[in-house]
Amino acid sequence: MKNTLLKTDEIGIFSLGGLGEVGKNMYIFEISDQIFIVDSGILFPDNHLLGIDYVIPDFQYLVENEERIVGLFITHAHEDHIGSIPYLLRKVKIPKIYAAGIAVDMIEYKLTEHSDVKAPPIDVYKSHYKYKFKDVEISFIRLNHSIPDMFGIVFKTKLGNIFHTGDFKIDFSPVGPPAEYDKLAKIGSEGTILLLSDSTNSEREGIIESDSKIGKSINELFSRISGRIIIATFASNMYRIQQIIESSIRNGRKIAFFGRSMERAIEVGRQSGYIKIPKGFLLENEDLNKIPDHKLTILVTGSQGEPFAALSRIADRSHRQIQARKGDTVIFSSSPIPGNQEGVNRTINKLFRLDVEVITHGPIADTHTSGHGSQHDLKLMLSLVKPKYFIPVHGEHRMLIHHRDLAIETGVHPDNILILDNGDVAGLSANGLRLAGKVQADDIYIDGTGIGDIGSAVIRERKVLSEEGLFAVIATIDSTKGELLTKPSIVSRGFIYMRGNEEITNELANLASDVISKELQKKHYHENNLKQKVIDVLQSKIKDLTLRNPIIIPIISDLKE
Ligand SMILES: [Zn+2]
Ligand SMILES: [Zn+2]
Repeated sequence: MKNTLLKTDEIGIFSLGGLGEVGKNMYIFEISDQIFIVDSGILFPDNHLLGIDYVIPDFQYLVENEERIVGLFITHAHEDHIGSIPYLLRKVKIPKIYAAGIAVDMIEYKLTEHSDVKAPPIDVYKSHYKYKFKDVEISFIRLNHSIPDMFGIVFKTKLGNIFHTGDFKIDFSPVGPPAEYDKLAKIGSEGTILLLSDSTNSEREGIIESDSKIGKSINELFSRISGRIIIATFASNMYRIQQIIESSIRNGRKIAFFGRSMERAIEVGRQSGYIKIPKGFLLENEDLNKIPDHKLTILVTGSQGEPFAALSRIADRSHRQIQARKGDTVIFSSSPIPGNQEGVNRTINKLFRLDVEVITHGPIADTHTSGHGSQHDLKLMLSLVKPKYFIPVHGEHRMLIHHRDLAIETGVHPDNILILDNGDVAGLSANGLRLAGKVQADDIYIDGTGIGDIGSAVIRERKVLSEEGLFAVIATIDSTKGELLTKPSIVSRGFIYMRGNEEITNELANLASDVISKELQKKHYHENNLKQKVIDVLQSKIKDLTLRNPIIIPIISDLKE
């Protein structure tokens, strides 16, 4: 199926996730009827999505246009860029995945956890590789980020270069390999028609601290602590993990780590060489208690206050091997992602109750830096790449708007910038960049208990249940005789407490009784009509009495012959 929104020779650009949100990144580039997918991520929702573990992009467009898909190109191994790959592969046939460095290990690891998924071959690219397709050549530019092996993607087209940055910061003294600024300048001087750039920190002024500086400050911090150190960071931040390991060794501490994602990251990191732990410094968990406190660093997951992560359980004293106690120092080498502050505070409160020293990132202790460039970095990117047209990506709506302003400051014409939502299709041609139309790009909710995708209707129901409660009417009838056999009984959960509210309960039971009797007398009695009638009448009465709108469930047992 052709993309009918696009004119002949137009290049299509849109996202199925990542615009208006930080998460579930998935960008689509359509060049000469070929579909190139960049990233396939997940989004971790805040509390308002009840019981939902994550949100993934809507793959419907890709299902319908499967035969035109060339491949999935991965920028880096963060979950908001690779997390939905197993779900994508279940729905859509992808001929090939192109990924680099630890992204390859992380994807392979992920696929072993979803053994039902038939995985396509993974083509491992290096930063100097070039892939030729019809009317386009794809190449890569290494950039710095909070995870190793992050690559921006260049599409060299007839119209000029299209550059998708991926996630990046400018770090002139990175912990890992340096970014390829020369290549950025080169595509700029060749002519970049369109730039899509990371907007996460577009509201932040000033300089984002170099990762190597954080290493120094962690080392300095360690040298002042005399008890056990329990330190939490993102498992994917292998540079940070390595810095923590090095600081431990320098200060004569051995290292233990806890949390499933931390174990996985360390395994992948050691394979790829990003994490090095000299012999004798890695503790087996059973040896923990044999080591004096001042010789111990415990590296854990849970920097975001996640309730079941290692740190939360250590703070709860419900962890099997380690319990926080007086004399310990807990360091957060992270900042809370928006929405997680509450969970982090809960964990910190618990630690304070145990008289544990807590150090979070702040002016006194530099324990963390962002992996996303601030305004200064974003302007540098724009100035090097010099795009004619610009689409800010990877960010909530206000971040995209701020990024637009930065682009204008660096000389991009305001008319040449498009702010898009997920599903908005941009058409790029020699005549310019225009909004061409819209494709389906909903949020798909994944309930981790194995239910699979659940629709927004279920979310709405959960929301009503949590806010308004549930109200059941139980009645026994005989439909052949047209009789209500007992007075209906009422059960409520989370709506009103029944005891003490007998008056309301009675009134509602009487009302239900009237409705049911009347409905049973009707010539064309039907159980569904009866249920709907009970719901309608009770709903409006409850609204009058209580201003509430609970879910009403009529349970009718019909004892007809
Ligand atoms: Zn990232
Ligand atoms: Zn990201």
